[in-house]
Amino acid sequence: MDLREDHMIQATAADSTIRLISAVTTNLVAEACRRHGATPTASAALGRALTGALLLGRTFKDLEYMTIRFQCEGPIGGIVAEASAHGTVRGYVKNPLAEVPLNQMGKLDVSGIVGKGMLYVIREAGFEIGLMKEPYYGSVSIVSGEIAEDLTHYLATSEQINSAVSLGVFVESGIETGQERVTASGGYLIQVMPGADPETVAAIEAAVTAAPHVTDLIRGGAGAAAILEEALGPISFDVLETHPVEFRCKCSYDRAVSIVTALGRDEVEDMLAKDRGAELTCHFCSSVYYLNEAALHEILNPSEQMLM
Ligand code: ZN
Repeated sequence: MDLREDHMIQATAADSTIRLISAVTTNLVAEACRRHGATPTASAALGRALTGALLLGRTFKDLEYMTIRFQCEGPIGGIVAEASAHGTVRGYVKNPLAEVPLNQMGKLDVSGIVGKGMLYVIREAGFEIGLMKEPYYGSVSIVSGEIAEDLTHYLATSEQINSAVSLGVFVESGIETGQERVTASGGYLIQVMPGADPETVAAIEAAVTAAPHVTDLIRGGAGAAAILEEALGPISFDVLETHPVEFRCKCSYDRAVSIVTALGRDEVEDMLAKDRGAELTCHFCSSVYYLNEAALHEILNPSEQMLM
């Protein structure tokens, strides 16, 4: 696989007592941030959440959708990221144009733009095979707003799994174009399963602390496996699977028609009279769907072919 393309790996170490997931998400995060016109700090927050949803989602075998939602008081207003079992992810922030000054270390202040609030995790499973299991809901207070620390805290308190989560997004200022863009994004998740040897865990903790930042590794050309090599130091691991990951939304023109249809006859007649059409913008990807006059008439009076 071309390491410049977005990808995610699952791996295991120390007789399966350590579970590892790592991802490079540069292209999908760049696409999401471009679609939403996000500022650098909003891009960093959104990118970390998108990557985090992909990593977290991959830890559940029967998963269909993993949604992480930050409901927060900072200028960004809120973040939603939804990953599927097929390696697709979509998401948005409430205020993509919000921005805050750099923090004391001269870095994008993600915790400052997120602020206090709640982190919600929603896990859906079984729908596609007809089981219709109830979605699982978990929630914790936001502890830092840096996203990775919040996911670590969530995993420890709600799922009782000791984990290390690292997420990073590098936004390059465009000297020639005057526009910033995401040029590196990715992260990893290390989980300690019951029965893990304390010495192994201590060695991993030391290696994680000493490892270069994930975006430095990606900017240097590292793929998901090379990121884990740095994070695990002397501990060897086996890669079980490698998957492509991508930004993909579930919206479509047909879905836009269903939404307008569901508004009811009065509302559709009102749209026809006032605007002679309807315009819908998808929150998740900023795609715009325009239903013209003929499309609205079709909703009110479906043609014979449509009824067949
Ligand atoms: Zn969409």
